[in-house]
Amino acid sequence: MSAGLAAALVFSTVLGAGFAGADPAADPGLKRFHDTYKELVETNTTLSAGDCTLAATRMAARLKAAGYPDADIHVFSPPGHPKEGGVVAVLHGSDPGAKAILMLAHIDVVEARRADWTRDPFTLIEEDGYFYGRGTSDMKDQAAIWVDNMVRYREEGFHPRRSIKLALTCGEETNSALNGAGWLATHERDLIDAEFALTEGVDGVLDPSGRRIALEVLAAEKTSQNYVLEATNPGGHSSRPEPDNAIYHLVRAVDAVSRYTFPVQLDDANRGFFTGMAPIVGGEAGRAMLAVVKDPQDTAAVAILDRDTDWRAMLRTTCVATMLDAGHATNALPQRARANINCRIFPGVPWEEIQAQLVKIIDDPKVSVTIPEVRGPVAQPAPLSARVMTPIAQVAHDLWPGVPIVTALEPGASDAQFMNPAGIPTYGVSGIFIDPDGGHIHGLNERVRIQSVYEGRTFLYRLVKLYAGT
Ligand SMILES: [Zn+2]
Repeated sequence: MSAGLAAALVFSTVLGAGFAGADPAADPGLKRFHDTYKELVETNTTLSAGDCTLAATRMAARLKAAGYPDADIHVFSPPGHPKEGGVVAVLHGSDPGAKAILMLAHIDVVEARRADWTRDPFTLIEEDGYFYGRGTSDMKDQAAIWVDNMVRYREEGFHPRRSIKLALTCGEETNSALNGAGWLATHERDLIDAEFALTEGVDGVLDPSGRRIALEVLAAEKTSQNYVLEATNPGGHSSRPEPDNAIYHLVRAVDAVSRYTFPVQLDDANRGFFTGMAPIVGGEAGRAMLAVVKDPQDTAAVAILDRDTDWRAMLRTTCVATMLDAGHATNALPQRARANINCRIFPGVPWEEIQAQLVKIIDDPKVSVTIPEVRGPVAQPAPLSARVMTPIAQVAHDLWPGVPIVTALEPGASDAQFMNPAGIPTYGVSGIFIDPDGGHIHGLNERVRIQSVYEGRTFLYRLVKLYAGT
């Protein structure tokens, strides 16, 4: 994205303006969307007790009812994973030479225990201007909007130039689960092949009073990779200690990791973020953002940004100790000591490079650095072209004049980590403005503002139409 786009700061507008009248009781289209969303939230799709395939089948029924032929709707489940399925559907474009636009959403949700929640997590509850329930914000709101888009486009006889594809998948929320988007990219590539995909990642940002701060667009994600540090020793009786001790070696290694900070790296996504956020944040931090974009070696400016956990993570690879396991008896010298180091690797950097750096930092041949498994391919950023950014700016400017659009680099990871390496650039954009508390996603009492969801529906409906063209 251009700096000019990112820096288009004027003032923010209060949430709800122009949408204040949105009422499902008075708008049959909105009512139908509401029912779709409700059905998704109320279909449990946790890994432990839920069924993504059931949720996908229900969404497929809605597409069929809207007139999509069976040949254009594929409910699937990967072999051996009957409840971890999804659905892919297509609205055919008029130009067979033009690549499709893919609307991608995961429909699985993080575990939620009724006993821990104030309200039933699997009932869509509306209270004080919010939708409450597991998945209301991550990301059954956007999944329901995608289904609703498909239904609306069909209903109004929209003939796009490019095909519009929908993919609802499972397995995004649980690291050990089979990832549906990755499975499709490997096994059913034709079904989801596209010029680019849109999915979750970041949203619109509200301040505590509900004023819109910025609309974020996610274009790059880090790769999550675990490393195991391990020291071994013949051990012995603890009454006869010696300096060569597996726990001591390991602890020194972990300490060395804790003291190391990876160098700052810039790409289009975080450069766009800091350039765009500088005037919004203002003051010392705002000046530091501009200084770092200009010179990533400006250590004084970097130190200011490093005070913020989010900014610190967006600037570089990070590694942190997450688990320890050592010794076998209280009265024995340890034979083995092991630590898990979880690294979030900057887009485009191979895991071997970080492994080599860890070996160098630890500088102890008695401590091995290995990887238990390679979670996925190296995360590659999606290019921030005008083709992608201009329609976002166009629709956003129309709905929310003056609200700046800011690109972001996500320290976490979504399904984009499987799509980008497969050659389908994937962007996180929802147009759903969320509270500074993040809507408690993954936590208790997940929620999202009702008006935000309805606005996001309007935004994404118009955006995908623009991308698909006529
Ligand atoms: Zn999610």
